[in-house]
Amino acid sequence: MTRRIFVDVLLLSLGVLLICGGIFFGLRYAQTVEENYDALAEEAAYALTGVALSGQSYLEALETTDRVTWIGPDGTVRYDSGSADLTGTRPGDPEIRAAFTEGEGRAIHDAVPGGVSTIYVAVRSGDGSVLRLSRPVSPAAYAFSSVSPVLWTALLLLLVSAALAFSVSRRILRPINEMDPENPDVSRVYPELLPLISRIREQQDQIRQEAESRESLRKEFTANVSHELKTPLTSISGFAELMRDGLVPPERIPEFSSDIYRESQRLIALVDDIMRLSRLDEAQGFPDPEAVSLDGMAEEICRTLEPLAARRGITIRTAGTEAATTGVRQVLHEMIYNLVDNAVKYNVDGGSVTVETGIRDSRPYVAVTDTGIGIPESEQERVFERFYRVDKSHSKTIGGTGLGLSIVKHGAQYHHASVKLESKPGEGTRIVVSFAGRES
Ligand code: ADP
Repeated sequence: MTRRIFVDVLLLSLGVLLICGGIFFGLRYAQTVEENYDALAEEAAYALTGVALSGQSYLEALETTDRVTWIGPDGTVRYDSGSADLTGTRPGDPEIRAAFTEGEGRAIHDAVPGGVSTIYVAVRSGDGSVLRLSRPVSPAAYAFSSVSPVLWTALLLLLVSAALAFSVSRRILRPINEMDPENPDVSRVYPELLPLISRIREQQDQIRQEAESRESLRKEFTANVSHELKTPLTSISGFAELMRDGLVPPERIPEFSSDIYRESQRLIALVDDIMRLSRLDEAQGFPDPEAVSLDGMAEEICRTLEPLAARRGITIRTAGTEAATTGVRQVLHEMIYNLVDNAVKYNVDGGSVTVETGIRDSRPYVAVTDTGIGIPESEQERVFERFYRVDKSHSKTIGGTGLGLSIVKHGAQYHHASVKLESKPGEGTRIVVSFAGRES
């Protein structure tokens, strides 16, 4: 962190320094050019006065390092301190052209961009001749030489301040870096950080509690699974042992065999439910979600369970309207099946089950209502826990695994659906699963 702060500060300052240096350089460059123009224009004005008084001899006697060129009104070169060849005419140069037409002309010619340039100023005299002065100048070098001391000083200051920032930020961050987040020494950390530390502590406690509760849930689940598996296995093993030892009279063999069959069916149902739940826990291994008609699925499930219900005189009917959602067909089927199956299992003989589908508040829903034994209010939350049964012996005689509503709950979570249970002992139960609105 200290290094990052240091590098960030250094880069930022370098950027600012370069931008300021660039602007300053540009300004100095323009100023240098302007100063030379003005100096040449002033010198040219003096020289013109001299020429007016003494003619060309003035120019010949003039002591200057600048090149002086005198051009007659017709464009012929009358005098050139830089060249003995006076045959040429110079009306083509832009500064001379400007001087002939406007009285004064200025120009700069770069031999190499950024290197030595030649600055020209041409001035027209009263008799129509033009006097041009020129000098080689290096504005870039001049601007750089005037900017560089400032830049070097600023760079030095920058490095010193970056080093200071580095050491100060290290000093500031040391207590934070050395802080033991598990057990912070409150007397050594900044008071401003105390709220953060207490938040970290709260979160740690929360994480610890969640881990503990997950661990105890896991232990409880393992113990429950072992118990649930062992019970039918012990029965199967006991029945089989009696039959093997010839202790079962032949006329009771069918009875014992069907006991073994029933217990093994329970085992299969249990293992199936455990596998379903663990897949829902991991939320993976499912096919892609698809559009599912909840009313179609409800009708199909009711048809499957009708014979079972009819044996106890229970009527099953579907009601409501069409309702479609997007989800994993197999999981949705298991959820609705478990709800309708429970509504039959925990019903009274001659009772009824209604499976209603529809859309309420733009949310598709399935509601399963029965006229069964109901669930006491104190148990209504717990029935969604794994292996929790209101009446253990009753649930077992009717073949429940204690996992049906857990599958409903986890299936709903997987589909971002809500589950609402209303029940009154002796009157019946209504469980509503509402799905999220379908995106089109
Ligand atoms: P089980 O396999 O035992 O039916 P569930 O998880 O499906 O397990 O249900 C848990 C418990 O909730 C059941 O044992 C039963 O006591 C109670 N229960 C579930 N559905 C109903 C219902 N429709 N009417 C009354 N009790 C119910």
